[in-house]
Amino acid sequence: MTHGKRLTRRALMRGAAALGTAALVPQRLLAQQAARNAPALPARGELLIRGATVLTMDPAVPDLAAGDVHVRDGTIVAVAPRIEAPAAQVIDGAGMIAIPGFIDTHFHLWNALFRIFIRADVPALGYFPVTARLGPLMAPEDSYRSVRLGAAEALAAGVTTVHNWAHNTRSPEHADAELSGMREMGIRGRFAYGTPVGMADDAPMDLAGLARVKKDWMPDPEGLLTLGICSRNLGALTIGGSAAAASRGVLTVEQIKRDWDGARALGLPITMHTSGASPVTELERAGLLGPDVQLVHPLLNTPEEVLILKARGVSYSTSPQLEARRAAALGEIQLGELLAGGVKVSLSTDHMASISCDPFASMRILFALHAHRIGTKVPLTLKRLLQLATIDGAVDLGIAERTGSLTPGKRADLALVRTTDVNTAPAGDPYEAIVSFAMPPNVDTVIVDGRVLRRGGKFTACDHGRIVAEARDAALALRDKAK
Ligand SMILES: [Zn+2]
Repeated sequence: MTHGKRLTRRALMRGAAALGTAALVPQRLLAQQAARNAPALPARGELLIRGATVLTMDPAVPDLAAGDVHVRDGTIVAVAPRIEAPAAQVIDGAGMIAIPGFIDTHFHLWNALFRIFIRADVPALGYFPVTARLGPLMAPEDSYRSVRLGAAEALAAGVTTVHNWAHNTRSPEHADAELSGMREMGIRGRFAYGTPVGMADDAPMDLAGLARVKKDWMPDPEGLLTLGICSRNLGALTIGGSAAAASRGVLTVEQIKRDWDGARALGLPITMHTSGASPVTELERAGLLGPDVQLVHPLLNTPEEVLILKARGVSYSTSPQLEARRAAALGEIQLGELLAGGVKVSLSTDHMASISCDPFASMRILFALHAHRIGTKVPLTLKRLLQLATIDGAVDLGIAERTGSLTPGKRADLALVRTTDVNTAPAGDPYEAIVSFAMPPNVDTVIVDGRVLRRGGKFTACDHGRIVAEARDAALALRDKAK
């Protein structure tokens, strides 16, 4: 945290204005925000996106080859071929595709700053050894800077909701720091409160810390931020070697049950990696699976386990870009099996320490892997891929009544993607454009909860240069600390 600055009443009020929900935020947190001088988020106003191709992802709201989206006070008011809204600020959507913002359902924002060290082709400099070595040295300020770096890149790629999988929550102050970073960036998200890298397997989660964060940060269940837990693994971790297993925990089913029971007593959802032999049968025997559980990396499930996942309403998040880097022995992405079995599936980046945040590439790679593996047996449309990356992510995170589609009455989370750039022009089928051609630099405008956070491919409020510089400084200081 930043210390040593005197906080005037005016500075506190500026912090409150930046948050827009001053009455709901503890004074202690306002003080932290004011001390950092974070720029205020843009105000919510009345917007009219004019003449875009609109892909709604809502079967009840038809796609439009050219149409308008009207937004007021953070809510989508209407989606129609032509809307008159004389008081609205007009955003010209010609040559652009309007889509719901991407929903990234598993993203470790805390280690974004380690991209400066990681080498995909040098095992000692891989993601697991680097995070295991430097993760335990992180101070809350490091977590804050990493979260801001990650959230900035996610927003630039059109991600409007992120499930921040914080499996290095070292203290209550680290949780506050990550949540401050998310809130200051204006992104929607779930904070999955975890345990510190390197914590003993028999040590329980900090349930008192969880309860405190719920009270301090989520007094409004309809707010931008929600809370859950990220669980340590059940059974041996088979990726990343012994360093990963030692640092991330390998718990017994009794230890898992203890943590999950504590989360459920607080009404919080649960997420867990399944990187290795599938834990689904053992979790089912222990009576632990339910619709409040999200699993990550669907690679090694048996047909019987697919039936269990469907029956219990469990969601599965796939991170195709990084799953595709794993050895074949660690499994293949079972998208076809899960979709055919009626299991809820969503899409995720995992982390950006060794790849960039690119939901377009995630859809593209998933499509290619699926076609390569079982595409002739289980058809997969481009529209279905965009659903996985948007509305199905909202279903996974339990916020589909609020976001995930361009539906009147939902909050205004959306992105405009240019079809006039060198890699997208001339425009043809809009789903083809989104899945096969588009990349993050084509994302022109990003709106979260009615706030225009990116316009013309640039941030409207946040100082990206400063975010990068602060993340870089933090990473280099951690390397010095680690010697
Ligand atoms: Zn992960």
